[in-house]
Parts: sequence; structure tokens; C-alpha cells
Amino acid sequence: MENVLPPSSTAERVQLRSALRVLPAYKPGRFPAVSDVVQYKLSSNENPYPPLPSVRETVEKSAAGINVYPDMACAAITEAVAKRWDVPAGSVSFGAGSVEVASQIIRAVAGEGDEVIFAWRSFEAYPMLTALAGATAVHVPLTTDERHDLPAMSAAVTHRTRLIFVCTPNNPTGTSVTAGELHTFMESIPQDVLVVIDEAYVHFNVDPSAAHGIDFFRTYPNVVVLHTFSKAYGLAGLRIGYAIAPDYISAALRAVAIPFGVSALAQTAALASLNAEDEIKARITTLVAEREKLHSGLVRIGWDVVASDGNFLWLRTGEATHELEEIFTNAGVIVRAYPGDGIRISIGTVEANAKALEAAKNAFSRFTATTQRTGER
Ligand SMILES: *Cc1c(COP(=O)(O)O)cnc(C)c1O
Repeated sequence: MENVLPPSSTAERVQLRSALRVLPAYKPGRFPAVSDVVQYKLSSNENPYPPLPSVRETVEKSAAGINVYPDMACAAITEAVAKRWDVPAGSVSFGAGSVEVASQIIRAVAGEGDEVIFAWRSFEAYPMLTALAGATAVHVPLTTDERHDLPAMSAAVTHRTRLIFVCTPNNPTGTSVTAGELHTFMESIPQDVLVVIDEAYVHFNVDPSAAHGIDFFRTYPNVVVLHTFSKAYGLAGLRIGYAIAPDYISAALRAVAIPFGVSALAQTAALASLNAEDEIKARITTLVAEREKLHSGLVRIGWDVVASDGNFLWLRTGEATHELEEIFTNAGVIVRAYPGDGIRISIGTVEANAKALEAAKNAFSRFTATTQRTGER
């Protein structure tokens, strides 16, 4: 994997931690380049809707108070989230996005010599945050149908394992784990190993057999559930996410959190969003319908694309990825390309999704031509 840092030079006087030398880079979704073509950013799984009027109003009001520090305890939003999930307030803790909460969890339980297991490919932040903590990342390949291989993840547990991430629905493949599978998995995991169920996309999951992290939090003593306001709630730009965890873990997460990491704007916007859940749900319903429409459109073209429970779809494009990304880009559709692996398309507006489908048609012609040429698939 590519490293974030340039090679060390003799001009460096101060020694950087060795963990930084093996740090894989986090590549954010691309922004549209300046161009005459209308462009659609479908590269970061963002919500295509503008903020709800009620949320916007709250944020504008709280902007009047940005000369003072936010509530470090996040008291009001903690209470609201605790009530929303019927858990004790002591089990809820926040961070500047759930990616920061994931970082808190890793730093709280894993260090030098410890192992952190996750499926691969999955959320790009896992290897980076694990490396930054000085711990060892253990990548367990997805199954051929793009799902978590839970038996293999369980078999990867050693006496050094401290933490396991289960990303469901999985970013970037969109597959989720079933409740039955996750119970079998949890029964096989030692209770001194923490299992993080990362549910950034849970709101888009309408599969009745899917696992719900909160049920597992209530059943097992070693489960943390990660939620974010960035995706379904449309607050990616404000940075707020949370963990639901056993109280002693929550206390540890608050201890390792950066002080005042969650702004007052983010806290009030999250609160206003929870109060507008009906409107949010209506948007989610539209996005899910659009996802299904785009999925069947892709299948009709000929793409072998797995069903997704998130707000995105995954094309396994292999070695043709870079070449095909260009076809999307030239059509004004900015997608997320993982070189040598695949392309993730976020669900956008109706118009954007139609553009994406059109580009996918051209990409498929090129894909079949390329794979016939190289015999690869
Ligand atoms: C987007 C995402 C997150 C969190 O995003 P934040 O904006 O930091 O809350 C966490 N996990 C996965 C798998 C994601 O895709």
C-alpha cells in the first residue's frame, strides 16, 4: 500500500514515530474538476439532499455562539441518542465523525504487538488508524460474493487479537451480515476481544434478515456499535458520530477523545436531525428506491453487481478500474475508484443516478472488450 509520507531525507532532524513509515494513506473521494460538463459527486457516499430547513435554522442560530467552546460532555445529544436507542446515557460517547470514534476505540484497546482484525476490502480508515496506533492490522479477504467471511475472521483470532471490526453494510461492497451469522460469530469470539459493529449505513438496510448492532450490544458484553450522522442524516460536513458501548468502554473513549472535538454546531444539528426523523426517513426511502433502480439497471446492462444494503453500489472492475473510472469522469460522474479492485458509485439525485447508469453502459462495453483482451475478470 502507498505510504502517506515522502521518503525520509537527511534534512530531517526530528525522528518521526516508526509507525508513520508504514501508514497507508486515506484517499478521500475525488472532488469534481473545474469543467464545462455538469458534474455529479458520487465518490464519498454523501447524502445528495441539502440540509433540512429545521436543521439549517438550528445551525445558523448556534453559529452566534462560536466564540465559546462547545459542551465537552455533549449532554443534550447524549441524552437524545440514549433515549432513541433505549440505552443508559453512560453507554453513549461521541467523536468528530464515527471515524474519530473508531480511532478512539483502537487507541483505547490496541497498541504495539496487538492485532486488529477486519474484512478486506472494507472501510479504508481501519488499516490507517490501526497502523497509527502501532498495532498490527489483519486483513481477512471477503468471500467471492463480496461478503464478510465471518468464519475466516473468527479463525484469524489469536492471543494477540484485541479488536475486530465488522462493517455492515460493508463499505465499499454494500453487503451486510445476517443476524444468524453474527450470533454464530459472536459465540466463537473470546469475550475479552472487543467487536465493533460499524453501522454507518444501517439506515439504508431494509433486509429483514440483517443483523442490528443494538441487539448484539444488548446480548454480548464485548460489543460496540458505531453510528454516524454523516450518511443517512446528511451531516458529513459537520463531523459527528457516536459509539454505544459498555459503560467502562465509553468512559475510556471519552478519556482518549480530543477535548472539545465535537463542535456545538454539530451537536445541535444532530439533535435537530433526530427530531426530524420522519423527514429523514422519507429521504432514505427515496435513496433506497434509487439504489434498487440503479442496481437493476446495471444488471440489465450486464454488470455482475451484488445487491447493496447501503447508499452505494460496487462494480468489481479489477485491472480495468482506472480505465473505466475515466469513462465515468468524462461523463461528469465522479466515482470512487480502488485501483486494481473496483468502483464504488454513491446513490445521488435521480438525475445523477441516470447519468451514472448511462456512463456504466459505456464502461461495460469497454470492460468486456478489456477482459476479453486480457482474459482477466
Ligand atoms: C463514512 C463511514 C464512517 C464514518 O464517517 P464519519 O463521517 O467519520 O462519521 C464510518 N464507517 C464507515 C464504514 C463509513 O463508510
